[in-house]
Amino acid sequence: MKRVAVIGAGAAGCFCAARLARLEPDCRITLFEAHAKPLAKVAVTGGGRCNLTNTFEGVEDLSRVYPRGASLMKRALRQFGWKDTWAWMQEQGVSLVAQEDHCVFPRSQDAMQIVRTLLYALHRPGVEIRTNCAVSAIEPLPEGYLVRWEGGSAPFDAVVVTTGGSPRRSGLSFLDPLALEMEAPVPSLYTFTLPDDPVRSLTGLVVEPVAVSLSGTRFSASGTLLITDWGMSGPAILKLSSYAARYLAERSWQAELSVNWAPDADARSCVDALLDAAPQKLVSSVHPAFLPARLWRHLVGKAGIAGERRCAEVGSKGRNRLADLLVRDTYRIGGRGRFKEEFVTCGGVSLKEIDPNTLESRKYPGLYFAGEVLDIDAITGGFNLQAAWTTGWLAAGAIAAGNAG
Ligand SMILES: Cc1cc2nc3c(=O)[nH]c(=O)nc-3n(C[C@H](O)[C@H](O)[C@H](O)COP(=O)(O)OP(=O)(O)OC[C@H]3O[C@@H](n4cnc5c(N)ncnc54)[C@H](O)[C@@H]3O)c2cc1C
Repeated sequence: MKRVAVIGAGAAGCFCAARLARLEPDCRITLFEAHAKPLAKVAVTGGGRCNLTNTFEGVEDLSRVYPRGASLMKRALRQFGWKDTWAWMQEQGVSLVAQEDHCVFPRSQDAMQIVRTLLYALHRPGVEIRTNCAVSAIEPLPEGYLVRWEGGSAPFDAVVVTTGGSPRRSGLSFLDPLALEMEAPVPSLYTFTLPDDPVRSLTGLVVEPVAVSLSGTRFSASGTLLITDWGMSGPAILKLSSYAARYLAERSWQAELSVNWAPDADARSCVDALLDAAPQKLVSSVHPAFLPARLWRHLVGKAGIAGERRCAEVGSKGRNRLADLLVRDTYRIGGRGRFKEEFVTCGGVSLKEIDPNTLESRKYPGLYFAGEVLDIDAITGGFNLQAAWTTGWLAAGAIAAGNAG
């Protein structure tokens, strides 16, 4: 009888074990979990609602969604994509809804429904779940692997590592003896703090659409921007933090953020039209339709123009400064800010280490990797969980197809 260890009872590990149990009812599967409860992270995903996938509508370039791992995901999604996730969940009795922004949630809006569904899919075929059992080593044997944990060890024919992301290198240290190539883990999906910047007084303002970039680089993103009491957040910023995760980490999160508040407009014509339409009004009492009045007043002040001046009194230099700020308003990023909704790791086991079709280690036959432990991560929107389902599904299929045991 084939014995398989799955290490990490998160999204990828549970999905992998559930599929393997279905494909190979005779296989003895042990799912190791370091913490007291399996799927603890899934329980809090999507603010407790679990944004479990995305319809990928409008996604033309997968690398804009998966800054790391796009080419592997392109191939893998053909085998198990969002429609398959949808079908799998429906088959288990979970009804799903796709929002207007293409994010997919359970109709119940309850992440615990996904947790219960996965646990049921494991319990039914008798997958053994060992909680409070952190694996400390995986040692190659002449046939298979010895898996060690505190106070015990056991041999397995195949092992799937699904230990998730870990922005600290220590989370991967149990793999050190295997000498696998790792991409240094660094955090992704965070907001930016802008120390002492007056823009923070505009906390709560939502501006859409904006284009953001890091000065002197090609990292850019667009979407909605939210001004917070510590700096800037919102989808545009989170995407930029993901695209530039490694660049920013290497610079201790110190960089210059450039904001284009008018990505769809010709800034100078826009300023002219605004000021010429109401020459007698105060500059501070008008504002372009696409910009909140408070933000416009902030930019007027930043351009060095007194708010009590009349529009007609703003000369060519002032207009140029305003137009410039509309498209190139810069801020000093001082570090990472808070983002309680989602947070993932950029980096992990290098994709060079695995066969992209099976996710099996090239050096260690019978050893597989799935989920965020791999150097695969995405922007927000359900793409990270889809990567966990897809890779978990692939690894299970490869083991069942006889690549191990
Ligand atoms: C607050 C929050 C909200 C999120 N919301 C969303 C969302 O709505 N949509 C989305 O797509 N993504 C979301 N994400 C990201 C998503 O949750 C992860 O990308 C996904 O859970 C990764 O799955 P995984 O199975 O690879 O890792 P995990 O889900 O992290 O699971 C790994 C498991 O392995 C265990 N483990 C680690 N080391 C060991 C060891 N040595 N021995 C035994 N067990 C071990 C861990 O305890 C953990 O249970 C969110 C993330 C966070 C933090």
